[in-house]
Amino acid sequence: MGYLCVRMRLINLNCDSDIGASAWCVGVDGRNLLMDAGTHPKRDGKESMPLLREIRGETIDAIALTHCHHDHVGSLPVAMREHPEAHVLMTELSYFLVERVLHNSVNVMKRQKEELGIAEYPLFTHREVDELAPVFQGFRYNREIEWAAFDRGKGNSPTLEFLDAGHALGSAGIMVRGASESLFYTGDVCFQDQTILRGARFGDVKADVLVMETTRGNRATPADLSRENEIKRLVTAIREIQDGGGSVLIPSFALGRTQEILAVLALAMKKGELPRQPVFIGGLGRVFTEIYDLEAHRANRNHTNLVLNDALPLEVLDPRKAERMKLGKGRLFVMTAGMLSEGTAAHVLAARMLEEEEHGILFVGYADPETPGGRLKASSPGDRFFFSKTFGELRHRCRVEEYDLTAHANREELLDFVGQVDPRAVVLGHGDAEARSWFAGEIGKRHPGVKVFQPEPGETMEL
Ligand SMILES: [Zn+2]
Ligand SMILES: [Zn+2]
Repeated sequence: MGYLCVRMRLINLNCDSDIGASAWCVGVDGRNLLMDAGTHPKRDGKESMPLLREIRGETIDAIALTHCHHDHVGSLPVAMREHPEAHVLMTELSYFLVERVLHNSVNVMKRQKEELGIAEYPLFTHREVDELAPVFQGFRYNREIEWAAFDRGKGNSPTLEFLDAGHALGSAGIMVRGASESLFYTGDVCFQDQTILRGARFGDVKADVLVMETTRGNRATPADLSRENEIKRLVTAIREIQDGGGSVLIPSFALGRTQEILAVLALAMKKGELPRQPVFIGGLGRVFTEIYDLEAHRANRNHTNLVLNDALPLEVLDPRKAERMKLGKGRLFVMTAGMLSEGTAAHVLAARMLEEEEHGILFVGYADPETPGGRLKASSPGDRFFFSKTFGELRHRCRVEEYDLTAHANREELLDFVGQVDPRAVVLGHGDAEARSWFAGEIGKRHPGVKVFQPEPGETMEL
């Protein structure tokens, strides 16, 4: 003792400086914890992986997951292959989801290998997922878990605790406690109630170091924005489009967003604001909807008695059916592929719908500008624009709208959260440069004693 020693070490393993592939390695009390092992949604093949080479040769005592979106778990089997010594910890709700998500990744990678010629796909196999599954451990929220074995030299294990993050089923922030230091990682967080899930339960969090998502740091929150109003606008638009004989496509990600939208539709049908009607969804969306229903008792949610599968006539639609189905009958689609990526039923439907005036494509989440969804959003009515390699140029004639039903915290809420946590250092991640620099500036003004880090890909911070 008596030496000036590093109290905590954190390595940013994200391969890019935007939202990218989440993966953080925390070193505390001589032990290592990997938090998340995602894949980058805009990159292909090995380029989409976190920078695992930075921790090659180190002992990783445990891997802990915040939630089951691909940008947080997509490379888990590869991380486990490189670190077979690691325990793998997640919330009990993520435990029910994770294998489905990973098997789906294998299917998507195999398809992309064929369609896009990405030779190194799949990065892992169905068999590997099955063989790794017995290692997964699920834990309830708010339990303190020792994540490393007792070591004579290093002493007792540090602990971690999952706190409900309110973002999607099973989502958590992770509190890591060492002998004298603590770190809190928000994961993806939503402080406000969504339609099904209630907001994050981070009310008691205090920590020495805060690792924070910054997704919405690049946009001010309009004073008059309310979830209630956005839902009203959405329901009204669906009714208008269907009254005019058109069909409605709501592109949504399979886990979280799909179920929130289905809940909005179920409640609107119950109140008579929409006629009761079949809702077409994707196969994976259907599986996660089932899990939302079956595990309702474990989640902190509104409408505890709402069973989506009973409240709505759900029909699974595959890409082949999407090519042939008649659209002139005012149909309602909530299809997986929030950005209308190629090779999905949502992509096929959008291509068929967007050249006809009576239909509507209603976005309820982010679509990257370089995706078919993003290009459609950016085009003006009447424009011919490049939609995709599959369909080439199309003319934008249908109704296209956007609704802000985010599952991420507003930037003002996160700034308040920094005040609550009262850390000595904040590490900014999961956001683009503009988003991070807004936070860096505002934290500097409001909390001048707090050190702010914006680590580069692969950068190690001594905190
Ligand atoms: Zn997420
Ligand atoms: Zn994320």
